[in-house]
Amino acid sequence: MMISIAKPLIGDEEKQAVLEVLDSGVIAQGPRVAAFEEAFAAMCGVKHAIATTSGTTALHTALLAHGIREGDEVITSSFTFIASANSVLFTGAKPVFVDIQPDTFNIDPALIEAAITTRAKAIMPVHLFGLPADMDAIRAIAEKHNLIVIEDACQSHGATFNGGRVGSFGTGCFSLYPTKNITSGEGGMITTDDEALAESCKVIRQHGMRRRYYHDELGFNFRMTDIHAAIGLAQLGKLEKFNAARRQNAAFLSEHLKGVGVPVEPEGCQHVYHQYTIRVPDGKRDALLEHLKQKGVGSGVYYPVPVHQQTYYTQELGYDQSLPVTEQAALEVLSLPVHPALSAGDLETIVDAVNSFFG
Ligand SMILES: *Cc1c(COP(=O)(O)O)cnc(C)c1O
Repeated sequence: MMISIAKPLIGDEEKQAVLEVLDSGVIAQGPRVAAFEEAFAAMCGVKHAIATTSGTTALHTALLAHGIREGDEVITSSFTFIASANSVLFTGAKPVFVDIQPDTFNIDPALIEAAITTRAKAIMPVHLFGLPADMDAIRAIAEKHNLIVIEDACQSHGATFNGGRVGSFGTGCFSLYPTKNITSGEGGMITTDDEALAESCKVIRQHGMRRRYYHDELGFNFRMTDIHAAIGLAQLGKLEKFNAARRQNAAFLSEHLKGVGVPVEPEGCQHVYHQYTIRVPDGKRDALLEHLKQKGVGSGVYYPVPVHQQTYYTQELGYDQSLPVTEQAALEVLSLPVHPALSAGDLETIVDAVNSFFG
């Protein structure tokens, strides 16, 4: 049997919670969504959380609520899932890509200021693979240039930077897709301390409607259902346990793997290992992936093509820039299973499979 790269852990709590919702007669957005929002805000240490249909719609909603529109620029990373940048495109604004740090895979704060133009409205750091970006440096730059900070925390539920949870440094956006650290099936969450912004997100989520059937602005149907919220709420109760297991699995891998670059955890950061991503230099990455498959170990390349090199971005949008650290990472990264469903035997198998490749 193949050891899979990701595996959602759904237990009796989730099943029971869904049945209760089905029996309650309130299936769409209702009391479970409200309870999930309250619990999620508490987890992040913020006043408000707003549930949406996905991480993508959380980002889209947050950008709109901050007034990002056509003609604006949002500074972000190209080494990410496409949704980070696409959510900017949905508003009519332009993603401006800044290169990453080679060790953390996160946006390099030292390169941000050079990318700020008069059109810049926001910085959107992505806490990639579960590791927080350097929020001290990013917030200092944002303050100096009067920019909004929107955190793409879709891979980093519960991660901390200097003791604060991601999603509490700017407007936080989370995904609840089944491969993420916790899931609601599909789903998203926005976090903020700003009451007016929270209200604005709720209006955008609900067809621009403040008063029933009076529509003052253009909105969407981005509402989460109570069925999804019931799953999410049960999962949220297990987040600390799941993240502790991910950290323990990562520590085992880092201790025993030979010949590859293992993930870093900078001082003050708590990594939650959405992915455990190694670097395989000298063009050997794809051969290692194939070798692992033969040994029954699933692995994944996140991400083989940086956003600025995706066909839509080059052909349709005319992106033509060089981001050498990002491009090198795309050639070398390989993510190994680290999820909480791994057994001690699975971890041994993963280590043996990687180490046997390097002889
Ligand atoms: C998963 C993810 C998203 C999008 O979330 P969905 O729930 O799949 O829409 C956005 N950004 C990053 C970095 C992600 O990993």
